[in-house]
Amino acid sequence: MSRFSSFNFEGKKAVVRVDFNVPLNESLQITDDTRMRAAMPTIHKILNDGGAVILMSHLGRPKDGPTNKYSLIHLLPHLQDLTGSQHTVHFATDCIGEPATTAATALKMGDVLLLENLRFHKQEEKGDPEFAQQLASLGDVYVNDAFGTAHRAHASTAVMADCFSPENKFFGLLMESEVSSAEKVLHQSQPPFTAIIGGAKVSDKILIIENLLEKATDIIIGGGMAYTFWKAQGKLIGNSLCEDDRLALALDLLGKAKAKGVNIHLPMDSTIADKFAADATTTNCESFAIPSGWMGLDIGIKARADFRHVILRSKTILWNGPMGVFEMEKFQAGTRTIAEAVAEATAKGAFSLVGGGDSVAAVNQFGFSEKVSYVSTGGGAMLEYFEGKTLPGIAAIAQ
Ligand code: AMP
Repeated sequence: MSRFSSFNFEGKKAVVRVDFNVPLNESLQITDDTRMRAAMPTIHKILNDGGAVILMSHLGRPKDGPTNKYSLIHLLPHLQDLTGSQHTVHFATDCIGEPATTAATALKMGDVLLLENLRFHKQEEKGDPEFAQQLASLGDVYVNDAFGTAHRAHASTAVMADCFSPENKFFGLLMESEVSSAEKVLHQSQPPFTAIIGGAKVSDKILIIENLLEKATDIIIGGGMAYTFWKAQGKLIGNSLCEDDRLALALDLLGKAKAKGVNIHLPMDSTIADKFAADATTTNCESFAIPSGWMGLDIGIKARADFRHVILRSKTILWNGPMGVFEMEKFQAGTRTIAEAVAEATAKGAFSLVGGGDSVAAVNQFGFSEKVSYVSTGGGAMLEYFEGKTLPGIAAIAQ
């Protein structure tokens, strides 16, 4: 059992860093509460033990201090619903100072206090130790359950851990499962290990590909970034997305993969379109012979079959980034096929992790989130982890 699970929080006030950075619509209603629900097991464990929970989070990117549209007060009613009526959820209008200390002191065991947006104070992102100390002083123990911000050395995500002795700081349940799933892929992977990398730009994924060259047996490259790899080999990609300043780098990655014996799979064909639009005229075409005026917006029929075949013989699968412009129906088939194949491989015993914003959105949209081994909630953090970086939020507690 983990340290968090075996600890008894009875009589303790736990300051818990969560990632409640949820999307709000113009009426300031939550449009996707996934991140809030992901933190509930940790919150309930502390409450059920007979402890109290002080929640800290950021919301959006406020530039000039307190701004109504970024106030966490908009999350309060839904948080109360998720927590249950037997526990009262209070709100402090500031995360430090008198509003926070008064509310934290008055907080009863079994209840919850939600603090106002951490980023209303510039000291949060600067990792200011005094600000961290003020946050730490609100509780007896510190729990970090915000994997989504673990790659930031902010006051609440890393610096304040220094204010607690090793036995009084913990990863929450979400953080624990994120870290152990990522470890399983990166350090205990069973071969064949296939990494599926998609999305728009090569430049965003260079480091992850380089690091995976040391770990994976197969790397599938789809999405807009595939065309830079084709053009680098002197092929015609029409008007497809391309980063001309990364052609040498793409060739270098292909060379490194060859030298290491890692199989790189590029889409042999594409769904091409005459414009970047939902009502474009489309056809199937070889990815390396796309006529001028046309652009590849999804992997093609053959590529879907090829990639599916590679995925189905894999024992470990990491997926980051869509295979095409899946936001438009005409260019969804590639991403959907990959989601199906990952689910099928998982059912046959493979360990599959889906991480990074858009591929997570895709598995959710297509209804596959329950059919893969793990869907990460931490986009940027998971990417940095797979780039081989040390995440400050993890290091601060693991040390
Ligand atoms: P990323 O954030 O780098 O993972 O990229 C995700 C975005 O890449 C999504 O919004 C997709 O619409 C976009 N994308 C995927 N494939 C293509 C493509 N072939 N051409 C242009 N954009 C693409």
